[in-house]
Amino acid sequence: MSIYRRAALYYRPFWAKTTLGLLLSLCAVGLNLLKPWPFKIIVDDVLGQGAEPAFGRSPSLVPLLCLALVAIQVLWGLVNMAMNYTFVKIGLQALLRLRTELYAYLQSLSLKYHDARRSSDSSFRVAYDSQAIQTMFNQGFTNIFSSAVMLIGTFVVMVQIDWQLTLLSLGVVPVIAGAIYFFANRIRSQSTTIQERESAMLAQAQEGLSSIRMVHAFGREEWEVSQFQHQAHQSLKANLRLTLTNVNSAFVISTLMVLGTAAMYYVGTLHVLAGTLTLGSLLVFSAYLLMLYQPLESLTYTAWAMEGAAAGAQRCFEVLDRADDVIDSTDASAISTTAGALAFEGVDFGYAAGQLTLHTIDLQIAPNQIVGLVGGTGAGKSTLLSLVPRFYDPTAGRVTLDGRDLRQIKKKSLRAQIGIVLQDTVLFSTTIRENIAYGRPGATSEEIRQAARKAQADEFISRMPQGYRSPVGERGTHLSVGQRQRIGIARAFLKNAPILLLDEPTSALDPTTEAAIMDTIKELMRGRTTLIVTHRLATIHGVDRIVVLEHGRVVEQGSGAELLARGGQYATLYAAGNYPG
Ligand code: ADP
Repeated sequence: MSIYRRAALYYRPFWAKTTLGLLLSLCAVGLNLLKPWPFKIIVDDVLGQGAEPAFGRSPSLVPLLCLALVAIQVLWGLVNMAMNYTFVKIGLQALLRLRTELYAYLQSLSLKYHDARRSSDSSFRVAYDSQAIQTMFNQGFTNIFSSAVMLIGTFVVMVQIDWQLTLLSLGVVPVIAGAIYFFANRIRSQSTTIQERESAMLAQAQEGLSSIRMVHAFGREEWEVSQFQHQAHQSLKANLRLTLTNVNSAFVISTLMVLGTAAMYYVGTLHVLAGTLTLGSLLVFSAYLLMLYQPLESLTYTAWAMEGAAAGAQRCFEVLDRADDVIDSTDASAISTTAGALAFEGVDFGYAAGQLTLHTIDLQIAPNQIVGLVGGTGAGKSTLLSLVPRFYDPTAGRVTLDGRDLRQIKKKSLRAQIGIVLQDTVLFSTTIRENIAYGRPGATSEEIRQAARKAQADEFISRMPQGYRSPVGERGTHLSVGQRQRIGIARAFLKNAPILLLDEPTSALDPTTEAAIMDTIKELMRGRTTLIVTHRLATIHGVDRIVVLEHGRVVEQGSGAELLARGGQYATLYAAGNYPG
């Protein structure tokens, strides 16, 4: 389906309003065509040049004709206003639909999609590229309609006045059409380049500003600015290139038009001198020629705007056409509870094709069992965890819950059974209360408070000026890491899911805070199937089972005591007390 036809689907729900707008547009064209006539009557009839005056030659006609002119203009203005408002509203409503659909789809796409691109590029598509849908409607579709009607109307009237003169003036039109086609192609590709470069510039700014701490700490402000300036300059160059195409084509097209006008003046004057055309008719004719060229010119701009917009719309449709990598199988059903028996059966996984991060993982985890995952950096511990909520699907083998392949469980219902605490809890810029209730938006204030108490967060929250209603800054910057972790743990307590995934929950903390938080985590793990990744072995030595990973393979597993006695990899790590995780 062409981009334009696909875009038109977004306006379809507003067809009734569109029809109204088109009717208004017809009225506007009709009124516009009336505009030159009062003056023609003044010149031909009152000033005495016309052969057979239709309205007589009385000078008292003049004020009436002047009034008629004003009335036509005012009426045209009103109709035009109503038409513009209607069309802009439809354009904006179509934009709202596309934006929402795009954002919702981006939210649903798997991490694999988002891993591969910068988040600012996706934001750019939602915020800016999507505007193409409005441009196409307001500068494209509606313009083409009113220009076409105007062209046809003007043409018909002009032929009535002098057909030879009409053909002569229109001789340049095919050449103009050729020029429009030539320039439109360039404009589309140049517009795509602009969009890509603007997006890259936004990404640069976003990255530099979101890592401002790092930038200041390492004194890289100037370097960041120079990187930004480089991107901004790339965008400037692309914009200039497009401007050059625009001014060139404006020059070519206006020159072609003036050639048509000059030819009309020349032949028109000959016709007046020969007595086959009245002076008033020549004046009306030249007014119409302007009216004819106006929609032609406006069609040119429309073609440019459409090409630019097509580039933006294409970037939106590209996202919507992406198939999700993590999809439920056709026989998937929702679950509302789980015993919590997890199993990895011959699981291979790779982020990129042909490059495995996990190799033939076989693990059976009984309900309520707590399993510690241990291994060096890059061993694949976090990757293993991310297969449980199906952030990714295994490349081979399967992960099961209560004996059922995860792909046969509806993603959303599966995730409802899983609580997660990461190394650094991400907080959203809303209140503490809403942050805790993120996984259970309907929770009551008492439930939220209770969860916070269990996470030992109630005390510091209550000390804040607005308590649970205190706002959290972007990314929770004015809370300490320990406080953020406590909120993350409160979140997990409140969600009260039977499966728990903990990825280095204490590694960003000092030893005293770590000990305190570990107590709450032990409480949280009780009665839940838990996978905990940590390199602080002392904190998990006593859990039910420890699994040691190396280069994506399970190399050892058993209780802490068994593994120590075996004197293998775990014993070495344990002897070191701590190891760099
Ligand atoms: P660990 O948690 O044991 O430190 P990870 O599971 O984070 O290890 O990483 C295992 C390997 O997978 C590493 O080589 C890492 O670079 C790679 N990796 C992790 N996340 C991604 C990702 N989103 N895309 C591509 N490769 C990744």
